[in-house]
Amino acid sequence: MHMIDARTLSRRSLMAATGISAAALLTSRGLFAQETGIVPTMVKAAAGARIEIHPLRRNISVLEGSGGNIAVLTGQDGKLLIDAGFTVSRPRISAALASITSDPIRSLINTHWHVDHTDGNAWLHAAGATITAHANTGKHLSVATRVEGWNYTFPAAPPGAIPAKVFDQKHSIHVNDTSVLLKHYTPAHTDSDISVHFVEADILHVGDTWWNGFYPFIDYSTGGAIDGMIRAAEDNLAIVTDKTIIIPGHGPVGDKSQLAEYRDMLVSIRENVAELKRQGRSLEQTVAAKPTATYDAKWGQFLMTPAIFTGLVFSGV
Ligand SMILES: [Zn+2]
Repeated sequence: MHMIDARTLSRRSLMAATGISAAALLTSRGLFAQETGIVPTMVKAAAGARIEIHPLRRNISVLEGSGGNIAVLTGQDGKLLIDAGFTVSRPRISAALASITSDPIRSLINTHWHVDHTDGNAWLHAAGATITAHANTGKHLSVATRVEGWNYTFPAAPPGAIPAKVFDQKHSIHVNDTSVLLKHYTPAHTDSDISVHFVEADILHVGDTWWNGFYPFIDYSTGGAIDGMIRAAEDNLAIVTDKTIIIPGHGPVGDKSQLAEYRDMLVSIRENVAELKRQGRSLEQTVAAKPTATYDAKWGQFLMTPAIFTGLVFSGV
């Protein structure tokens, strides 16, 4: 999901926009109504957002402002993008890309299948990109796919948006003097998540296995689960050093210590929720017990509110 600026979209304004209470977010109809819910909200936010360019290291930058964070590797082989943002951002993404270098767009990698990372696949493919992703990203984009947590059914993507190259476990590319290693996680945020490691630059894009500074969404409908999220965070921590630049799916670019803090938060809340569930508490009773309370000021100020995140953890323990 998109890191929507808290100033433009507070939790309260989202509630107001959707006209529903926190309790209603936890009903069996899903977290949000399809027409006014999180997906249209994310698109609307992207439509009004500037695209910010953050140069990171060597020939790699990040674009922020349209769905998930977009990484860009430039050079004589043409641009390689990690994730595609929303189509509504096309003019601003195009301008941002052109302002970095004049290299043509040649490749796109999707970190997973979600719309805020793949909606732009079609126009980027038309602009010259060959799309690579995990096999499950190809699978989910090829057919109508429902995300219960968003109360939203996505239609099959157009043919040009479907990845032409898919892989199962690992895949490597050498482009623009850079080794790019793609690796599948065991199911975490979805069953299609991959990390992308720019080896020489020591930069790791971890997709939506990490939301830097926010409780993450977990998509149980396509294979995600809290324990997989914790395992993915552990896997990420095992391969980074204090010098590694880590690109999260949402939130600012970060480092190992921030990722470790996120992992600790996930583990602690998982234990709190599991204990309440073991005691026989219902979802409503578990939410009322506020198992996330000590973390809410820091992590609970975005779309995944304390109540919603508690529900996501509750589903998986
Ligand atoms: Zn996602």
